Amino acid sequence: MEIIYLNGEYIPKDEARISPDDRGFLLADGIYEVVRWYGRDFFDMDGHISRLKRSLSEIAIKWDEYPSFPAIARKLLELNDLENKEATIYLQVTRGAAKRSHTYPYPPVSPTVYAFASELVTDEKIAVDGIRVMLKEDIRWSRCDIKSIALLGNTMSFQEAWSNGYGECAFHRDRLITECSHSNIFFIRDGVLLTHPESNFILSGITRNNTIRIAKSNGITVKEEAVNTGELEKVDESFVTNTRGEITPVTSIGDFVIGNGKPGPVTILLQEKFRNETAALKH
Ligand code: PMP
Repeated sequence: MEIIYLNGEYIPKDEARISPDDRGFLLADGIYEVVRWYGRDFFDMDGHISRLKRSLSEIAIKWDEYPSFPAIARKLLELNDLENKEATIYLQVTRGAAKRSHTYPYPPVSPTVYAFASELVTDEKIAVDGIRVMLKEDIRWSRCDIKSIALLGNTMSFQEAWSNGYGECAFHRDRLITECSHSNIFFIRDGVLLTHPESNFILSGITRNNTIRIAKSNGITVKEEAVNTGELEKVDESFVTNTRGEITPVTSIGDFVIGNGKPGPVTILLQEKFRNETAALKH
């Protein structure tokens, strides 16, 4: 039986009760975080905690216990027999239950905190062969830096991509490529690694930031500069990054085949270097 965390308690999932007035349910008024467990330790838990803290503060939700995320995550792994396996832990904090209103409740109500752990089964074929990516105008809001649970723009876009046989959907704003529906995107052009700079138009991905660090420490020049959709023919390689998939090669974006349509050498090198770090976190 799956055990989840809800507001300080570890309980069977089917005993969990949330108010219909919860602002997460009514207004998507909340934020979330997802961290990966490699069987012995988390990957960059500190990065996830600081992003969690920032998301909470950007939308003025007060949940002082945010540093307990690792303890909650470890307990869920233990209670669900996932300690020696690969898993992800999802944590969501909403503003709590209050009469529906466009103003935040005052005085503030207790936030609703929900977390669960799931076993992670990765698809090695995708990591080796790469994915085709759809290209689409970004229909989302202008605060993509907040890890908000309001993901309709992301899910609508990814659903369209998925049902047309693509593995991800890349967004552009005024032709500048920002990120994807649930990952950040990188390009390699003339040996230089390019990705959209941190801004309100992208999520500061934990995998993105670590990939940049690893690239720099291996002598690869990194420029945090957006690539224009009109420049895709000059791109030699591309890949996407996220917590679940680490580094996934991209073989085409929209109508453009990237390089020779196969994962390129810089992508493969970065995948290897990233995996060397995560291998140390395995059971
Ligand atoms: N951008 C978006 C929109 C995402 O949903 C995600 C996944 N949470 C990412 C980027 C990648 O972030 P991370 O590397 O922290 O998983």
